[in-house]
Amino acid sequence: MPNAKVRILKPQSAIPPMLLRIVQYGHPALRVKGRRVGRADDRIRQLSADMLETMYDAHGLGLAAQQVGEALRMTVIDVLPLLKERPSTLTVGGEEQDLEKWMPLTLLNPEVTLQEDRDVASEGCLSFPDINGDVVRSTKVRVKADLLDGRAVEFEATGMLARAIQHEVDHLNGVLFIDRMNSATRASLKGRLKRLQRESEE
Ligand code: ZN
Repeated sequence: MPNAKVRILKPQSAIPPMLLRIVQYGHPALRVKGRRVGRADDRIRQLSADMLETMYDAHGLGLAAQQVGEALRMTVIDVLPLLKERPSTLTVGGEEQDLEKWMPLTLLNPEVTLQEDRDVASEGCLSFPDINGDVVRSTKVRVKADLLDGRAVEFEATGMLARAIQHEVDHLNGVLFIDRMNSATRASLKGRLKRLQRESEE
């Protein structure tokens, strides 16, 4: 996969977080499956800090490595800004956790098991500026992942957090939210998607 536009990260750590360029729909990086992250070293910690900075700057709730041109199984999420409007829970071993202590969340190599109950809600994506559409997702997921501090965690998530995790883990597999929309929704967005794709190819 050609990646001339992809930023190469220098292996440094103590530099302040910087804004990364978010690639838009049409960029090949969005269709690349991420590699496993072997170990959370300085480079990964720096990438996490940079991704969070970039996500907050763009007013997003989640950002996947593919969206900054890195083909890694790594994503950052923070659902706190929307907690009132679209509630979330995170449960470990049946005990509901204080979300403030868990956010922001950097997940490495996340594996998700979907529960059967589903709902539909509008989603956006930082790689699709000004585009929203309804997507059906599981209302509850079970997640296994590694954290930046090297711990392996297992938890259950509901609400917006469950939705955000499904959206981001799709990115890690090269799957985009438009792939999950029904054909009517996709058809209604066709013109705007074409435009975005053209912009990315320029
Ligand atoms: Zn997205």
